[in-house]
Amino acid sequence: MPERAWRRLDQELLRWEALGRACPLWWRDDDATEVTLQLERLVALSRAAQAPLLLSVIPSPTAAEIFPLIAEAPIGVAQHGVDHHNRLRLPRHAQFKASEPASWVAGELFRAGASLRGHRRVLPIYVAPWNRLSANLVAALPAAGFEAVSAFGGPVRAYPGLVRIDTHVDLFRWAPAPAFRGVVLCLHTLRLALRRRRLARAWSEPVGLLTHHLRLEAEAWDFLQALLPRLSAAPGVSWLGPEDLPGLTPQT
Ligand SMILES: [Zn+2]
Repeated sequence: MPERAWRRLDQELLRWEALGRACPLWWRDDDATEVTLQLERLVALSRAAQAPLLLSVIPSPTAAEIFPLIAEAPIGVAQHGVDHHNRLRLPRHAQFKASEPASWVAGELFRAGASLRGHRRVLPIYVAPWNRLSANLVAALPAAGFEAVSAFGGPVRAYPGLVRIDTHVDLFRWAPAPAFRGVVLCLHTLRLALRRRRLARAWSEPVGLLTHHLRLEAEAWDFLQALLPRLSAAPGVSWLGPEDLPGLTPQT
């Protein structure tokens, strides 16, 4: 029952508050390429809920039109792949094959990033399509100018010249077909992520939310609209702005 799941989340947040702690929370949304009605709605939601967002943008000629839209919102931009085309045979997905040399991958990353580079909101963080990391990609990212990489499910960790910061609560399930996981399951996953950090006294280990604005259906929008202001108002969590993510050099 959603009411019970909301109550249990509130109880977990109150436990953090009682301990004088606030769990760092961050939010990533993937697959933007242009301004759409869904993206406008997402940006409005981020502004209204005062929920900072890292928007991962697939490099494309239309990407530049996104920047005026987010000008007044607490939103940073990350490069999401080079073209988001799958180079592997299904059901596997990856932007790069593991056999491709890191130096070539670095060149591709840098070349593709040209449509984003130079905009003030773009941060040196790479969001891996399908959350898929490989050794050659990890080796290539610092050479292409990236300081951080984001995938799914893990703790913050360091690679040579690179920090990895993941998301943990995906509003969608992807197999057998993409669909909203539902309010109860999303709240349960979020509560468990918070609880695990509290029990481990991992106060600075962030929890990441993951959305895909182009796929959100009415129920998922309603859920986000209810969740984000609730989190913003809770002393037991503190939003981590995209520019404050671990591994990024503070901007002056
Ligand atoms: Zn993607």
